[in-house]
Amino acid sequence: MSQTFTFQAEIQQLLDILVHSLYTERDIFLRELVSNASDALNRVQFELLTNRDVVDADAELAIEIKADEAAKTITISDTGIGMTQEDLVSNLGTIARSGAKAFIQAAKEKNAGTATDVIGQFGVGFYSVFMVADKVRVVSKSYLKDQPAFAWESTGGATYSIEPAEREARGTDIIIYLKEDASEFASSWKLKDIIRKHSDYIAFPIYIGEDEEATNKQTAIWRQDPKEVSDEQYNDFYKMLTFDWEPPLHRIHMRADVPLQFYALLYIPSNGERNMLSPRKEAGLKLYARKVLIQDYSRDLLPEYLQFVQGVVDSEDLPLNVSRESVQANKVMVNLKKTLTGKVLSELKRLAQKNTAEYLKIYKEFGRLIRQGIAVSPVDRTDIEPLLFFTSTRSANPDELFSLDHYVERLATNQDDIYYILGDDFPSASRSPHLDAFRQRGIEVLYFTDPVDPFMLMGLTDYKGHKLRNVDEADIDLSSIGELKESETPSRDSLTEDTFESLRQRFEETLGSRIKAVRQSKTLTDSPARLVSDEGGANRQMYRINRLLDRDYELPVKTLELNPRHPLMHNLSQMQAANPANPLIPLVVEQVFETALLQEGLHPDPAAMASRLTLLMQAATGSSADLDYAAVPPSVISGRVTRDDDDAGDAADDEVAQGNT
Ligand code: ADP
Ligand code: MG
Repeated sequence: MSQTFTFQAEIQQLLDILVHSLYTERDIFLRELVSNASDALNRVQFELLTNRDVVDADAELAIEIKADEAAKTITISDTGIGMTQEDLVSNLGTIARSGAKAFIQAAKEKNAGTATDVIGQFGVGFYSVFMVADKVRVVSKSYLKDQPAFAWESTGGATYSIEPAEREARGTDIIIYLKEDASEFASSWKLKDIIRKHSDYIAFPIYIGEDEEATNKQTAIWRQDPKEVSDEQYNDFYKMLTFDWEPPLHRIHMRADVPLQFYALLYIPSNGERNMLSPRKEAGLKLYARKVLIQDYSRDLLPEYLQFVQGVVDSEDLPLNVSRESVQANKVMVNLKKTLTGKVLSELKRLAQKNTAEYLKIYKEFGRLIRQGIAVSPVDRTDIEPLLFFTSTRSANPDELFSLDHYVERLATNQDDIYYILGDDFPSASRSPHLDAFRQRGIEVLYFTDPVDPFMLMGLTDYKGHKLRNVDEADIDLSSIGELKESETPSRDSLTEDTFESLRQRFEETLGSRIKAVRQSKTLTDSPARLVSDEGGANRQMYRINRLLDRDYELPVKTLELNPRHPLMHNLSQMQAANPANPLIPLVVEQVFETALLQEGLHPDPAAMASRLTLLMQAATGSSADLDYAAVPPSVISGRVTRDDDDAGDAADDEVAQGNT
């Protein structure tokens, strides 16, 4: 008695594409079916080790493929885990993952050939058989006791049927009735060719036709001597493992004997983003215990910040019957993780020092994760430090990166600390007024412009005994460090103590609680002002971290430093002496402050500056007497929008009047 079922809508769409529009790379259907057979064998192997009640426990774990040239059929059989009637419905009629949709999308965007090439990635590999089949019949018997065999059949239309069937032993047969234009596949020779090309590495023997010898080498590539594996084989295995169509940037093939015995083949993908979007379905390494697959995605073998690493680990020390649940708690795992982490970090360090260009390609993709590692994994700190690279004032080229060692090797005379500046990007950091004094004395400053850098700083307080210091710290004294270079711009006279003091007071009165204090700068040369921090500790960068995490944050209140040599300060001081009520004065004070905020990457609302700037330009191009200050909204002057519109005029007057005192 046969029962008919309707395919899930996504599968119908998928089948439609596979049946009607894909004619390239059709031979990948065999790779997909063999990979499913191998998965089924892996699973029954695992059951055999952990569970007594497996049907036909003695059957050889193998795959058999037979072609019938006359009947134009291929039969792929395995002694794997098999499927019950319910399994057939849920595995070959519905898709748990969003695989079909993602595949259909990919097939539309990319060319169809590339899409079929990676169809397995979407968890819908089985259906690729309909590129070559008019009809498919799956006969399966589960490994569970007392489960009868069933057959699933479909012609790739909207429905499939299920009926009781005959099958003596545990396992699955996939019988493919080839399309007219795909009859070429019904040949042992052709099948062998495809198996050697795509499935050589499969760990179980694949017997084709009447052959008594397996067609595939069955070599676990990670157990081979690296001298015997070609780059091409390494890259093929990577592609098979990750579905990444670009070759990896780097690979680590290792074998350890003491204290743990294991093999590992690890890869670093070429693209961080692609890897994030479509890794092998999930992050994690494939974990084997003596060639038996224990976990497809083990995240317990490397720390979180190294999860971009892909690959396989095969341990000789894990007990074979370890269950998937208890593997995590096994002591061997802790040691494996330690050894693997150490190996990955030392290999990266070796690359960073011996082949910096290659290393920087990796850093470009995954540097952000590596930098986070410093904060989240303090035990690895000294191993991560040599992996850090930054742009710096040493080069105007944002692609030129320097390590902390590079920095330390070139410390200026008497320089003890490592200086850095936090900024939103290279151009804005490099224009910061904080750098005036450092440039003048030939002291290098590192640019920390990645959003995670403030976070990194929580774990990176010093390097090889040199403290890391933010150039905006208020108490940095450079007077004995480096050598004062002849200034390119002729040095100007400083305002006298008295004139500076009244200007200073004017700034303090106008800016109020938005600043901690106003003081004279000893270091500024080309910039009129800057904001400095005198608060220490890790909390200092908290607002940047909160901003990164999209949390609420308050602007830090800083000290404003004014440059008594800058022409703007001279002009402002003269203007104040001539007429303290000049309404331009508070406008300029506000703008000096907000410019400094901007330069810190701190401005909460740059657009709000526009109307003030318009007024200032109007004043600069004409007579200030033309300006109608009464009409100026208070926010333009004070930068704070706190009053209602009704009071606007009064408030503006107040601000100006306040400046009179
Ligand atoms: P995936 O292999 O990514 O899960 P597929 O479309 O290739 O996706 O296969 C769908 C499901 O069908 C598999 O997950 C498995 O449960 C089941 N299946 C396919 N082939 C076999 C087989 N030979 N033996 C047992 N189960 C199988
Ligand atoms: Mg599959």
